[in-house]
Amino acid sequence: MDRLQHWIGGRSVAGISGRAAPVTDPATGAQTALVDLASAGEVDAAVAAARAAFPSWRDTPLSRRAEVLFGVREQVDANRKELAQVLSAEHGKVLSDALGEIARGLENVEFACGIPHLLKGEFSEQAATGVDVWSLRQPLGVVAGITPFNFPAMVPMWMFAGALACGNAFVLKPSEKDPSASLFLADLLARAGVPDGVFNVVHGDREAVDRLLEHPDVAAVSFVGSTAVARHVYETGTRHGKRVQALGGAKNHMVVLPDADLDMAADAAVSAAYGSAGERCMAVSVVVAVGGVGDALVTAIADRARALTVGPASHDASQMGPLITGEHRDRVASYLDVADGAGRVVLDGRDDDATAGDGFFLGASLVDHVAPGSPLHTDEVFGPVLSVVRVDTYDEAVRLVDEHPYGNGVALFTRDGGAARRFASEVQCGMVGINVPIPVPVSYYSFGGWKASLFGDLHMYGPDGIRFWTRSKVVTSRWPDPATSSVDLGFPQVR
Ligand code: NAD
Repeated sequence: MDRLQHWIGGRSVAGISGRAAPVTDPATGAQTALVDLASAGEVDAAVAAARAAFPSWRDTPLSRRAEVLFGVREQVDANRKELAQVLSAEHGKVLSDALGEIARGLENVEFACGIPHLLKGEFSEQAATGVDVWSLRQPLGVVAGITPFNFPAMVPMWMFAGALACGNAFVLKPSEKDPSASLFLADLLARAGVPDGVFNVVHGDREAVDRLLEHPDVAAVSFVGSTAVARHVYETGTRHGKRVQALGGAKNHMVVLPDADLDMAADAAVSAAYGSAGERCMAVSVVVAVGGVGDALVTAIADRARALTVGPASHDASQMGPLITGEHRDRVASYLDVADGAGRVVLDGRDDDATAGDGFFLGASLVDHVAPGSPLHTDEVFGPVLSVVRVDTYDEAVRLVDEHPYGNGVALFTRDGGAARRFASEVQCGMVGINVPIPVPVSYYSFGGWKASLFGDLHMYGPDGIRFWTRSKVVTSRWPDPATSSVDLGFPQVR
């Protein structure tokens, strides 16, 4: 059985804590590996390796850092299929989802390849007589990324691409549930020329996370995961003087107005609710059917959802894979035991043939007439259970979204440009889609929710990412004109 070790200082390092966790293939339920879980000492070793590597990486010319990032791009691009297989084997997502994840992660490496341009400062000549003022952005030092199970390649790429490009040394603490992708990426980075110690991986659980949050040599922590842990990371990290951005959970609504193209809306709802088995922080979890659109929309969604093929990624026909663990599958399925008056189950994924084996499968599930305020509407379910809430008016729909504690993504489906414009302006959410169900911003914008979906100020990647991974300095300088200097410096007299 494989033993997955840490990656510290450019090489594989065996864990010494004596603690390890099983890694499972969710499509079969079988254990495939053991992953080492770091204690504080192993985290310290990774931080020390990063600290030692930082000065020369910081001083590496921008052109060379860009060249290394282009190399990372080439390596990931050339190894997409193998990386996708690694993702499917431990996460369970089907290959098309895995390839999509890699493409969306790679965008961030491509953005970071423009680092010479992204780090340009500002300059004001002659702010006062003989005085010039300019600004520059400098790396922070050793920084850390703590990532969730659901995007084991993309979320690390969201973080390390910008962090490394800005000149930081990075310690990644990936999810212990699907840790192999981080090691695959570490190898690709090394092949691309990232110097030893500039990128490190420590596997672990809360013990490793807490050490990173307290470590005096870690300057910044970027976190993505559930809201409860995001709050803990933000509060603990900032208490220890660190810069922290902590992205949390979500409950994304898709509002469908009566004038929407119903086929387009139904296609979008199905791909956004059931893609990656609903284990996406930008998955559509609630469709809000406005006015008389409900019956036709629910029929169109149910027809499509019923036709989805659920199965292992290794079967070409599979469109939706298993959930990450048996425990999580059971928790998600429990939402289908809907209390009287809280909703009506249209499709029950527990009836899907794929649930017969030992894998952690649950078929596409649909619950109509979900009552606002019931668990299906308040909780992040994080699985293939789509709720439909019916409301009479646009205003009720917006209120439903605005009053929800999460504010990650939201979508509106309509043919009315005026309604779309008003919605985009007034809705209380960080990312808005107009006839786009999963509005994950392209890499040259930044990703982030509002309310309980993000703790901190700066969003992830893009321009905010560059700000997060650097600190600014402003230089005010005064130089007397050589023509008026009392010392003869040999300058030609220009006046
Ligand atoms: P999680 O919060 O359980 O784990 C995230 C990371 O935190 C992992 O590395 C894990 O090892 C660590 N961790 C877990 N418990 C901890 C604890 N008690 N103390 C310290 N560290 C701990 O999240 P998950 O189940 O891996 O991922 C799913 C969650 O992530 C969902 O809530 C989803 O919405 C969220 N997510 C959010 C975004 C976003 O951009 N907002 C993106 C992807 C996933």
